[in-house]
Amino acid sequence: MSDSPNLLLPEWTDLWQQTLNWSPTPTQQAQFQALLIQLCELNKSVNLTRITDPEDFWEKHLWDSLWGIQPWLNHPSEDLRAIDIGTGGGFPGCPVAIVQPQWQVTLLDSTRKKVACLEALCQGLPLSNAYPVCDRAEELGKNPRYRGKFDVALIRAVGPVSSCAEYAIPFLKVGGTAVVYRGQWSIEEEQILQRALTQLGSELTDLRAITTPLTQSQRHCLHLKKVQSTPSKFPRKVGLPTQQPLGIE
Ligand code: SAM
Repeated sequence: MSDSPNLLLPEWTDLWQQTLNWSPTPTQQAQFQALLIQLCELNKSVNLTRITDPEDFWEKHLWDSLWGIQPWLNHPSEDLRAIDIGTGGGFPGCPVAIVQPQWQVTLLDSTRKKVACLEALCQGLPLSNAYPVCDRAEELGKNPRYRGKFDVALIRAVGPVSSCAEYAIPFLKVGGTAVVYRGQWSIEEEQILQRALTQLGSELTDLRAITTPLTQSQRHCLHLKKVQSTPSKFPRKVGLPTQQPLGIE
């Protein structure tokens, strides 16, 4: 039960089951509730998210974060390394770390104040399998401790799709998957992405569309598989992936 009745998170077990064929355990539900409360507390000092109404939070942060990893939701025994690039207030990385306690989830953001909040959040929940890191994806993606080390890279709302690919692919092991969360999706974006992926040594293996269960918004999710090691020139220097996105002719 929440200490703040106005922040009581709905359970909606049936809705989880109908839409993702999965539902949280009581422990995970309690962690989701604690995540909402702590985020609202931290939000008083640092702007982490505008989405704090419990139903909105359920759909736009919890449900949306988890539908992207649906192929892994029913395989909890796998022990994977994941990175959430441009995690902001911890999405999709925190819900993913909660439902996959055996994964190691790096939460990367370039804004120091947000990362300090995420450190407090991970200590407070606690969320011992999530590791906040402050850096630019362009810099950390060159660091040998992080480059080529992840099975899964998650990226939501961090610029044009080919910039997301350029940030994410270098972090992956060959055979790893980048999960790119998008709202609308177009043929033009797909053509740009395909050209970018050729340069990055990656392939689009899955493109799914879904309508969100509460507000009926359109969402898309792309899975990009790394098929060969990334040329050392990627990611390019800070700023270039968004100023001059790959694949634009
Ligand atoms: N992923 C979160 C979500 O969907 O709620 C936050 C999205 S927010 C719009 C974009 C975040 O990406 C910001 O917190 C920003 O600091 C971070 N960011 C932008 N460019 C980045 C980069 N090159 N490296 C690391 N973080 C970056």
